[in-house]
Amino acid sequence: MSLNNTLKSIKDEIDKKVKIVVVSKTRSEKEILDIYKEGHKNFGENKVQEILEKYEKLPKDIRWHFIGHLQTNKVKYLIPFISLIHSVDSLKLLKEINKKAKAKNKVIDCLIQVKIANEDSKYGFNINEVSDVLNYALELENVSIKGLMGMATNTNNNNLIDKEFKLLNTEFKKYKSKDFDVLSMGMSNDYKLAISNESNMIRLGSIIFGIRK
Ligand SMILES: *Cc1c(COP(=O)(O)O)cnc(C)c1O
Repeated sequence: MSLNNTLKSIKDEIDKKVKIVVVSKTRSEKEILDIYKEGHKNFGENKVQEILEKYEKLPKDIRWHFIGHLQTNKVKYLIPFISLIHSVDSLKLLKEINKKAKAKNKVIDCLIQVKIANEDSKYGFNINEVSDVLNYALELENVSIKGLMGMATNTNNNNLIDKEFKLLNTEFKKYKSKDFDVLSMGMSNDYKLAISNESNMIRLGSIIFGIRK
């Protein structure tokens, strides 16, 4: 199957309300273009240098999502073009995004990354910090918090994954509104479980492109 047929068959199988971000980290510009040409516009990257190079070379109507840990000193490079930052994992980062966005007279859409995995993942807020983060963000005029993002434990234990997604969805629903309506959870291995827990944005890499080298 071509890359694009894989994407199409996933689109056919899932609810129309669920957005797919094609995770193109490590993939070539040609691979991205093949999918773009069929009408797909949302791509996700996790390295600043890589997203900048691709942004420069690829069509300007691509909506770029940043999904990796973001260092504060690199925020300024993303401000001109980033569509959504999924991975806000500290107040320091949120403050910096606000500051650099303000300097450019922009409002940047962000998600709060929440640690839901069992394993010691390094990044993300604890779930009991979400309400404080959202309160803090209310004071920042140049960031708009659109929802939550999380990654489940990398495991074959579907019960555990299901529990983690349920936890994030429960938290999401406390604040859900017209302006806070993005629940970014689910990757190649667990997107079906994520959708069954009301995810409305899934981030797919290897299921489309094959295993990363
Ligand atoms: C790499 C990555 C993905 C995609 O993972 P696959 O298993 O290849 O689908 C999704 N989300 C984040 C945050 C990632 O870093």
